[in-house]
Amino acid sequence: MAFLLSSTPSLMTEVVVRPMNGGNGLHSYSKNSTFQRKAIEAAKELINKAIAEKLDIKIFSSSNSFKIADLGCSVGTNTLLAVQNVIDAVERKFQSQGKSTQHPEFQVFFNDQASNDFNQLFTSIPPNIPYFAAGVPGSFHRRLFPNNSLHFVHSSCAAQWLSRVPEDVLDKSSPAWNKGRVHYSNSTPQVMKAFEDQFAEDMDNFMKLRAQEIVVGGLMALILPGRLNETPHTEAYLNKAFEQVESSLIDMAKKGIIREEKIDSFNIPIYFASLQEVESAVKRNGCFSIEIMENIPHEKPQPKVMSSTLRAGLEGTIKEHFGDEILDELFDTLVCNKLEESSLITESCKSVGLFVVLKRKPNE
Ligand code: SAH
Repeated sequence: MAFLLSSTPSLMTEVVVRPMNGGNGLHSYSKNSTFQRKAIEAAKELINKAIAEKLDIKIFSSSNSFKIADLGCSVGTNTLLAVQNVIDAVERKFQSQGKSTQHPEFQVFFNDQASNDFNQLFTSIPPNIPYFAAGVPGSFHRRLFPNNSLHFVHSSCAAQWLSRVPEDVLDKSSPAWNKGRVHYSNSTPQVMKAFEDQFAEDMDNFMKLRAQEIVVGGLMALILPGRLNETPHTEAYLNKAFEQVESSLIDMAKKGIIREEKIDSFNIPIYFASLQEVESAVKRNGCFSIEIMENIPHEKPQPKVMSSTLRAGLEGTIKEHFGDEILDELFDTLVCNKLEESSLITESCKSVGLFVVLKRKPNE
């Protein structure tokens, strides 16, 4: 642990992000995550292709066990679909090489923060799954697995969560203080830069950690909600949606339901990057080759569905700072109405996913 902290000093201030809503009730992530599921579905063929064309089965044939990790898995069932896609593709690859007699054994590590509802996840795993399942609690901004132990890392709609809110945006004396706002996209260039820098720092660290954990020749598929390279922050669909949460909180402060200082001292620790930013992080790191890199379509939900999606994802973080009395009015009324009112604007904003498959290069 001492090693980890000394090699990643800024992570001493890592914020534990509140997980998605657990259980399977009205506001749960399991009932409100079709938006994220569509990104997994959109990536399926590309993951197939990556495994068919880029995976060398020699990397695990000596032990005959193939180890997969899904980072930021949340509760089922999206993660179950994602790992099944990977397993099916590896099985097909095995068969195509005439090795159908000795199927590999699969081990799947479901990772999320310790406070994730792992019970909900585990109870949603059907019997007779073709793999050994294990839960790994902890932050992916830290080491989670032993050296050289993973063959395939998958992470979908999770690495946009930063390790922390950049310090300057909460500092009253800084030019990057994000006064009166909770998100960066409509804010000053200094605030945007602080979030961009935090994402770059987190990605550098993420790549460094995964480079230690993934075997040479192993693959990592990352899906991130993001924006097109040339799209300014303000024109990305998810930023527009987050701006509706921000403007709803501002309305609540104007009405005296929450205090204005509460807004000044809160920022959502999320950043929507472009492929260019992810590519730069991969290149700075140097341990991975880029095998596939493209934007994938990410369908925009109806306003009501989007407000429930936002609630399932942000409720924990908002509740911790503002209390739980405001949640129904905030999401079910204000955010929902604002998404409806702004639907013409959001209609013109692009919603995209970032998709990359990386391969761990041999050590130099
Ligand atoms: N991959 C799933 C869930 C995405 S929701 C899907 O596609 O549906 C994002 C998940 O990332 C949440 O469950 C959240 O708790 C998790 N997450 C955010 N920051 C994390 C971190 N630092 N370490 C591990 N998990 C994290």
